[in-house]
Amino acid sequence: MLALLAGWSLIGTRIDDYAYDLLLSFNPPPAHSSACAIVAIDETTLNDEGGPRAYRAILAKGLEAIAAGKPAVVAIDMVLADAGDPREDERLGEALRVTHNLVLPAAFVDDGHVRGWENPLPQFARFAAAIGNVRADEESHDGVTRSIALEKTFAHQRHWALALDAFRLAKGVRYIVESPREIQVGAETIPLARVGDHRSLRIRYTAAQIPKLSLESILRDPGLVNQFRNKAVFLGVTATNDRVVTPYGQRISGVEAHAQLFETLESGQFLRDASDLEILGWCVLIAALAVAIFAYTSGWRAYVLGALLLLFAHASPVIAFQHNVVFPYSAPFAVAWLCVSAAASYQHFFVRRQLVKSEGDRQRYQQAIRFVTHEMKTPLTAIQGSSELIGRYNLTEDKRKQMASMINAESKRLARMIQTFLDVEKLSEGEIELKREVFPISGIVDNCLLRIGPGAEAKNIAIHVGEIAAVSLTGDRELMEYAVYNLLTNAVKYSPPGTEVLVAAVTHGDRLHVSVRDQGMGMDEKELHSIFRKFYRTRRAESSGESGTGIGLSIVEQIVAHHHGRVEVTSEVGKGSCFTIVAPFAVTPVGPQSSPPTAKIEK
Ligand code: ADP
Repeated sequence: MLALLAGWSLIGTRIDDYAYDLLLSFNPPPAHSSACAIVAIDETTLNDEGGPRAYRAILAKGLEAIAAGKPAVVAIDMVLADAGDPREDERLGEALRVTHNLVLPAAFVDDGHVRGWENPLPQFARFAAAIGNVRADEESHDGVTRSIALEKTFAHQRHWALALDAFRLAKGVRYIVESPREIQVGAETIPLARVGDHRSLRIRYTAAQIPKLSLESILRDPGLVNQFRNKAVFLGVTATNDRVVTPYGQRISGVEAHAQLFETLESGQFLRDASDLEILGWCVLIAALAVAIFAYTSGWRAYVLGALLLLFAHASPVIAFQHNVVFPYSAPFAVAWLCVSAAASYQHFFVRRQLVKSEGDRQRYQQAIRFVTHEMKTPLTAIQGSSELIGRYNLTEDKRKQMASMINAESKRLARMIQTFLDVEKLSEGEIELKREVFPISGIVDNCLLRIGPGAEAKNIAIHVGEIAAVSLTGDRELMEYAVYNLLTNAVKYSPPGTEVLVAAVTHGDRLHVSVRDQGMGMDEKELHSIFRKFYRTRRAESSGESGTGIGLSIVEQIVAHHHGRVEVTSEVGKGSCFTIVAPFAVTPVGPQSSPPTAKIEK
């Protein structure tokens, strides 16, 4: 939208016009022999024939001479609106009368005071086959005449353009048939839609000049008029009148501009302006392509495709022009550059962010692997040593039993470690199947307390149990127990001896809040944001000497999420933390019930 607006701005329009002028000069209409000729009342004619004041006499003489050449049409670009010398007017009238297919001009004046048509005097007008509008200089912001209005209406009086009337008469057609979309002149169709009250046709200026003769040379050598046979002759003043600027930067007279318009009509090569809808559609397509390129491809492929799109957007007005459609240059240009660069930078930063994230994940994963392999070494060394001893020496029965049970215990520890790792992977892949059972929260808390008891005692940490609501949860009991147990082990692990841990399960509305509060090392804001990431451990935890993998909480979070709940944490460095599992509970209140402790998943 921004790019489209830029295209409609003054700068955008200027660029469009400049591009149009270039395209026009690179794509001239195919050369054909001119169907018209210009007879110029130039400086020499005026000097030789008595100056500008004698222009009616000059005109009369000229017409008489031209008539001998039997042209198809004679169009005059000199307004005959004011009364002149009666004798001169009479002679002029006579010359007009004998001119076949005469087109006289009507000029539209608008100088602030007077606004209206300047029509030829009735005594002249009655000999005209048509009266056409001669306003040729377009009011463009840079003064260049790129098109001429084919019709102009003022005060209920409408005139076609002088060249259009001349074209009609040259074709021997009586009437111009019009519709909002086109103009029909006999068998010829001009596909030019009316925009508002305007119908301007772009002139395809010919590369070669239209044959131009000075009237003075015709008067001197009347034989020259033979080349006018069956052509349209445009007669006008060129001496002081060079006011029309062409897209090629040349200055030409009004009469030459009319002759050029006539040639455009004759060639049938009409330029059509692309509609706003076409422009909008094209720009949307370019934008969509830019987005698609950077959404579906990346790296050098995306950049190559992006560059091709830019090239295509630049080339589109050129291709359109070759099909006689004038497409603006700045809008697709701006859209392509804006969208390609926006999509490319978005992709660049997005990919970079992803890269940084995955790099972090990889590092943490490596650390955890290092830790786990290190941890695995301890039981493996024990197993190796014991089995070697059993094999090599004759041990007492007692000793052997002791060693065997040690091997058993250590291999179980190893198996548990491996199981935990596998569980993490399965949970994150969504492969663990959740059971659906209803179980009381009190049972879970009891089991966890049983399991944590020895560890807490060894560290001289007192565990207090607050209110435990008599409600049940729905879901996988084993996993939920794992979650609560995990919070408890962390509370004990990351608290100094002599502190307390408080466990409670209370209901708030339709949610159960199971909280574990400790008086341990705590965490700061930044750490709180990361603790649920896989393999993340705070620096404080690392240096505390307590071992860990940094995956427990990520599993807890996933388990709780599977139960449609969430984990909330509050913490203060050095003061302690409070982890709360908030989950929906089943309404049925349950009585005290004890269930056998399970220890399938252990940290
Ligand atoms: P682990 O305990 O194996 O390192 P967890 O995923 O259980 O992994 O915990 C992640 C990190 O969160 C811990 O390493 C620790 O830094 C921090 N943490 C968890 N619980 C507590 C707690 N109660 N007090 C302080 N820090 C904690």
